[in-house]
Amino acid sequence: MGAHPLTLVLQGVALFAFVPLVLWLFLAQPLGPGWSLALGVAIIAGHRAVAAPWAARHAMRRCLWCGRPGQQAGAVPVSSGPRTTPFAVCSGAHERLARQFFGFLRRFRVPIGIGIFAPLMLLLAGTLLRALGAASPPPAVNALQFRVIVAATVVFVSFAYRASAPAEQPRSPFPVHNLFLLGIRNTLWVFRIVGGWWLLAEALRLGGALSP
Ligand SMILES: [Zn+2]
Repeated sequence: MGAHPLTLVLQGVALFAFVPLVLWLFLAQPLGPGWSLALGVAIIAGHRAVAAPWAARHAMRRCLWCGRPGQQAGAVPVSSGPRTTPFAVCSGAHERLARQFFGFLRRFRVPIGIGIFAPLMLLLAGTLLRALGAASPPPAVNALQFRVIVAATVVFVSFAYRASAPAEQPRSPFPVHNLFLLGIRNTLWVFRIVGGWWLLAEALRLGGALSP
């Protein structure tokens, strides 16, 4: 007997919670630039070591799309790097949505990768320079470019994948385990809500700064 189905959902949420924790360390730098950066990078490395095997172990026990545990209808094999993992899907409709999502990711992997990793590298490099006492962009400006570019990218992806054809052989350019923690559909909702909130907050701040 495996764990209770709800345990799977809660474990996924708990593992996903490290993502906002790392973002908070990088953006708010509560421990100062050096320690916040070091702790964030350590958590990313440790998280991968735990979350990737967890996802592989439970891949057939909940729907990759909606995260629902229990009876499943089929499986979608997803390749990432050298390995291919079959992930369960609870219905034909959710299999199609998952295949569309991976079709979109693969086709637009370069702009999506730039939209996420360029602002992240800029943020981390600026923080490292600041920790070393070197000249660096103001932290508020660096956090702003990260929030605006990443939010615009993930909000766009969360809607635009629907226009893609389903992938015959899904291959993810990004780690699949992070999408499996909540299910892809719920992860896209986090993107829409948090990304939309970041964009709105920055627009309001810009509006406030421009108004007389
Ligand atoms: Zn489902």
